[in-house]
Amino acid sequence: MGVRVVRTIGDPILREPARPVDVARLRAGALDGLITDLIDTMHAEGGIGIAAPQIGKSVRVAMIEIEPGSDRYPDMTPTALTTFVNPVITVLDPGEQGYWEGCLSVPMLRGLVERPRAVRVEYVDRRGEVASIEAEGFLATVLQHELDHLDGVLFVDRVRDTTRLATMENYVKFWRRGATPGEDGL
Ligand code: ZN
Repeated sequence: MGVRVVRTIGDPILREPARPVDVARLRAGALDGLITDLIDTMHAEGGIGIAAPQIGKSVRVAMIEIEPGSDRYPDMTPTALTTFVNPVITVLDPGEQGYWEGCLSVPMLRGLVERPRAVRVEYVDRRGEVASIEAEGFLATVLQHELDHLDGVLFVDRVRDTTRLATMENYVKFWRRGATPGEDGL
């Protein structure tokens, strides 16, 4: 239990569709260790979300937590730790929004990704209760990013204009909001 090694791009497990969780096993506590490891690893890495395949478990579990003053995303609205088991996403507003995304599994890169601006996610929570969340703006992007991991999709797959793919250093230098007028960055 504890902090796990984060799998990085090129590791085949990140490209596999993850298996659904047996909710009876979840309710019996069989995933408690995995969930704790995900929390510990997300905190250790300073991430705002993580999915089980990123620590080498190909099951449909992901979580998000946006803490006040996050190092990686300092300007974002805080969101309490939420664990999504067997999530199903529905687009509520297909109009697109662009955010510069990063990923613990794609070290040192940011890319501008356009995604639907509002979604609903129906899921089972860590206690095994059915729940749902509706989100718009950056939170909608974060949810879509994390749930993509359960289908073997990485944000770089969704960067349509690869001139909007940058090292972290160059993202800060050239693309971050304020650095370049007119660009919709974070
Ligand atoms: Zn990611």
